[in-house]
Amino acid sequence: MSAIWHPFTQHGLDEPIPLVARAEGAALITADGARVIDGISSWWVTTHGHNHPRIMAAIRDQTERLDQVIFAGWTHQPAETVAAGLRALMPAELTRVFFSDSGSTAVEVALKMALGFHAHTGTGRSGLVVMEHSYHGDTIGTMSVGERGVFNAAYAPLLFDVGTIPFPVGDGDNTLTALRRLCRETRPAALIVEPLVLGAGGMRFYPADVLRQMAAICRTHDVLFIADEVMTGWGRTGTLLACEQAGVVPDILCLAKGLTGGSMPLAVTMATEPIYAAHLSTDRARMFFHSSSFTANPLACAAAAANIAIWQDEPVRERIAALAARQSAMIGRLAMLPGVANARTCGTVAAIDVAAADGGYLSDLGPRLLAHFRQADVLLRPLGNTIYVLPPYCLDDDDHARIEAVIGEAVLTL
Ligand SMILES: *Cc1c(COP(=O)(O)O)cnc(C)c1O
Repeated sequence: MSAIWHPFTQHGLDEPIPLVARAEGAALITADGARVIDGISSWWVTTHGHNHPRIMAAIRDQTERLDQVIFAGWTHQPAETVAAGLRALMPAELTRVFFSDSGSTAVEVALKMALGFHAHTGTGRSGLVVMEHSYHGDTIGTMSVGERGVFNAAYAPLLFDVGTIPFPVGDGDNTLTALRRLCRETRPAALIVEPLVLGAGGMRFYPADVLRQMAAICRTHDVLFIADEVMTGWGRTGTLLACEQAGVVPDILCLAKGLTGGSMPLAVTMATEPIYAAHLSTDRARMFFHSSSFTANPLACAAAAANIAIWQDEPVRERIAALAARQSAMIGRLAMLPGVANARTCGTVAAIDVAAADGGYLSDLGPRLLAHFRQADVLLRPLGNTIYVLPPYCLDDDDHARIEAVIGEAVLTL
């Protein structure tokens, strides 16, 4: 029996835990030889495909030179290459790159930068505004800015209070009105949102215009706008950043998952010059007090540098557009099946809701769907009664058709 305590796994249910031996492209190969189509990009991280040859070669190459070095007061070429690459690829206003090692830490860093900015510029602002159904990670700080529920009820005493705006309905007036009111009445430090797509909150999509107006309201009220693009970044929503579709440049941007093409744990928090400048001083008490042991690990940075190079010289955007078109065609067909509601796509992300008496995360439909997909050798992991497909960009027609067929069977038989 394994000693491993797995994440988001109820070991008391004795569900099978397959042993994955290797991966190629859009597929995982288990130790007993099954080929499993990875329909969720191994939890939203794999972008181009598993084991991309250029990324794997970059990691191998880096292992010949430097494994790890302290990053406080020291630097190395892979990190410099990543920072320069991000400057070239991301909006010009985001002039500073702070490294960390997961999406959660990228968000924690963003929150600390926002609070640091207000503390050092003496605005007296410290509160945070968040959107209903949001997910920003599983650390105490990121749980505090995320949706409260069964996932974090036991830890409620540790979580801090935030202002919450409702998820946009229709043209999003409900959201925008609430945001204006909170900005006026509570003078918050920052708003943090997942642009266009709320991932873990149920693959909920909202219009780019609502995102644009939320950013504008923040600007008007001197509230910092933090975009958590940990999931939406690196092409998931059809553009490099989801913010692009709204013509919005955030004050602080969080990137992780696809930063290394999904191959290594690495994250960055990018900030505008005023946020950096607020910490700049000869006074040591104003430095940015954050680090973790593996900040900007050279092997992970080598993977990220290769990913950025792939974005710069391979037709990634064309691949994404082609996948998005196929996702949208699939959703058109699934939408016609009985019991399917809210069939939707946003770039390469596709989702449907299936009718169920109780659609909560813990409803028994979820485990039945999961078992069905598992037995069909397709990796899909429904969120409650929401089935979504979020594949690597290299997914081919045959594998895509297989995913669609397996979802169709599930909808018709479960
Ligand atoms: C996954 C995710 C995170 C957390 O990233 P980790 O690397 O798992 O810590 C934060 N924000 C969003 C929007 C995410 O999807």
